[in-house]
Amino acid sequence: MSSSVHATRREDMFQSTSSSGYSNGYHHGGGSGGGHVSGQRLRRGSRSRSRDHGNGSNLRVSHRMTEQQQEEETGTERAPTPCTDFDMAYFHSYAHLGIHEEMIKDRARTESYRNAIFQHQDRIAGKVVVDVGCGTGILSIFCAQAGAKRVYAVDASNIAVQANEVVKANNLSDTVVVLHGRVEDIEIDEEVDVIVSEWMGYMLLYESMLGSVITARDRWLKPGGLILPSTATLYMAPVTHPDRYSESIDFWRNVYGIDMSAMLPLAKQCAFEEPSVETISGENVLTWPHVVKQVDCYTITLYELESVSTRFKFKSMMRAPFHGFAFWFDVEFGIPAIYPSNNNTRTAFVESPNNHDTDGNQRKKRANPNEALVLSTAPEDPPTHWQQTLIYFYDPIEVEQDQGIEGSVTLSQSKENPRFMNIHLEYASNGRCFVKESVMR
Ligand code: SAH
Repeated sequence: MSSSVHATRREDMFQSTSSSGYSNGYHHGGGSGGGHVSGQRLRRGSRSRSRDHGNGSNLRVSHRMTEQQQEEETGTERAPTPCTDFDMAYFHSYAHLGIHEEMIKDRARTESYRNAIFQHQDRIAGKVVVDVGCGTGILSIFCAQAGAKRVYAVDASNIAVQANEVVKANNLSDTVVVLHGRVEDIEIDEEVDVIVSEWMGYMLLYESMLGSVITARDRWLKPGGLILPSTATLYMAPVTHPDRYSESIDFWRNVYGIDMSAMLPLAKQCAFEEPSVETISGENVLTWPHVVKQVDCYTITLYELESVSTRFKFKSMMRAPFHGFAFWFDVEFGIPAIYPSNNNTRTAFVESPNNHDTDGNQRKKRANPNEALVLSTAPEDPPTHWQQTLIYFYDPIEVEQDQGIEGSVTLSQSKENPRFMNIHLEYASNGRCFVKESVMR
């Protein structure tokens, strides 16, 4: 349905960012998205309801203190961000065991964390750790096995009740202190040497849990302390996926001999209005990836996460129908380094370099691949429960080998619910430019 695509002359590109100016969709939902058919896909943090559980004994339940109480207690004016109904629903979704089962069964994920914890055993043994979002307690227990003196296992979801039972059953109650509450609200009366957290959502930033790691870091981490993972990188690349397109769209052209092409606009909307979480392979990827965002967990701020923008420039490595963009990420479990800054010594991760090729595209390349353990969710690596996130166009663009593709992408926390993500994509190729707005909710 190329008639639905508002192609503009190349020189008009990016003059306006309003969704009414350009669109490749049938709905101009803007940042909040239009009506949509929600896919059945599994999303971290948005799973179905589960029963509420009573609190187990020994579990430290944290009730949020009033600001006044807090000032009285600490003499400071730290006002935690309010816990909204969206947050409550989010934590409720993590009370469901299925989501934890899925994460734990993701061996690439869980073994990377376990390997990283044991690789950094010298910094963990005898030390104090906080596990931001402990879930079932698995990472806290790995830290205890690595010799941590004390592990604060914090989770606001009712899964904390089970985590406490698991800790008790493994005779680790002297080491692992389960705190049932938000990291933003609970109190820990000492500084910690290590923060461990599995905070990554689809497309890295969906769920906005990194903000809670930042809060924990700023509240409790000792100078020079360790954060696992230490860095994260979000990538994007143009993809071709004829099988997916034909299965969801071309299918309607001939259904048991009946021409159902009248369904095509609706099929495109249903299949491609929202980002799609699915596994693709390296063969679907048309170019080297571009780095959308590099996160240094030691220095990133909450403000930086509100909106992330980047411009990209790709050159297709082959002739193919270009169906959309894929996003994926990796995280590294490196050590902090000390570097001087403004007469102070600050802690920062030794950044793994990304090379820029002559076209300005950024390649994934490490100077020393042995330097830090990497958990990758790239299409060429073994699949994980994060899979890849695809933003498909309603109509493919035929690209030739070496044809340029350029544009920009902005990922921003939704005003409606900061755990949702608005994705604003502008892209141009061969003189035509397009805009795609979508919401990951
Ligand atoms: N660490 C576990 C679970 C990771 S899933 C594992 O690796 O298997 C993320 C967990 O973080 C969820 O259980 C969720 O409830 C919790 N969480 C997210 N934000 C939080 C916050 N601000 N305070 C406390 N727990 C949080």
